[in-house]
Amino acid sequence: MQESSSPRRDDASTVALMYHALATGDVDASGSVDPHYRLAADEFRAQLGLFRAHAGGAASVRRWLDGACAGAVLVTFDDGHASDYHAAFPLLAEAGASADFFVNPERVGTPGYATWAQLREMADAGQSIQSHGYRHRYFTEFAPAELAEELRRARLVIEERIGHRVTLLAPPGGRMPSGLAALARECGYERVLSSQPGRLHAGNTDVVLPRLAVTADVAPATLRRWVEGAATDIGRARLRYATLGFAKRVLGDRRYERLRARLLGQPTQ
Ligand SMILES: [Zn+2]
Repeated sequence: MQESSSPRRDDASTVALMYHALATGDVDASGSVDPHYRLAADEFRAQLGLFRAHAGGAASVRRWLDGACAGAVLVTFDDGHASDYHAAFPLLAEAGASADFFVNPERVGTPGYATWAQLREMADAGQSIQSHGYRHRYFTEFAPAELAEELRRARLVIEERIGHRVTLLAPPGGRMPSGLAALARECGYERVLSSQPGRLHAGNTDVVLPRLAVTADVAPATLRRWVEGAATDIGRARLRYATLGFAKRVLGDRRYERLRARLLGQPTQ
């Protein structure tokens, strides 16, 4: 379907946003996080206000797929940082909103990351706890049989510890080996949340769904245009993603990350 160039959002479509850690003034539980992927908690609160004013609020992908919250902006957090519980959860609760949190069982409860008790409390309050793989390792680095085991194990452990179904998978670093959609379905997942920019359309049955990364350099005006569905801005995000994807393929993941870290003066994630 052709995307409309109208600045108004078409009610049958929305965007899924990808966040990482939030930083708060008193407790910066995200000290080790790449600043590019860290947002001030106050900024996130302001964004939730923007989603209320310019769209149908904020909701998790899981709730949206269930048919609830049409028109909501979809909010996801990757990596399971401690700030999921300390910062994102209270702000979402205050806004009457929900989000999906993609966690790695291997990291849960280790320094800087949310604990199982915290994730359970969030799930019982209506938040969606989902899978980011068992370890935080790129899926492109596994042999196929090994990856299947990784995906199954992550889902079963999260379901057992949280007591809620796990149906969504977000690949670490957005790295997707070919055939991931089919493999994810075989391992009990319904959808894969990628890092490829784009819009989601209600009733779409694609396994792989797009997300837009909200990094520290995304200006409020850009975010607003994404939410309102301006095709040119999402096209720009797609182009940027395609350029980075090309650099990753040419250089390989490790060399790409070393180069990026050197250019930005940041530690590698
Ligand atoms: Zn990650």
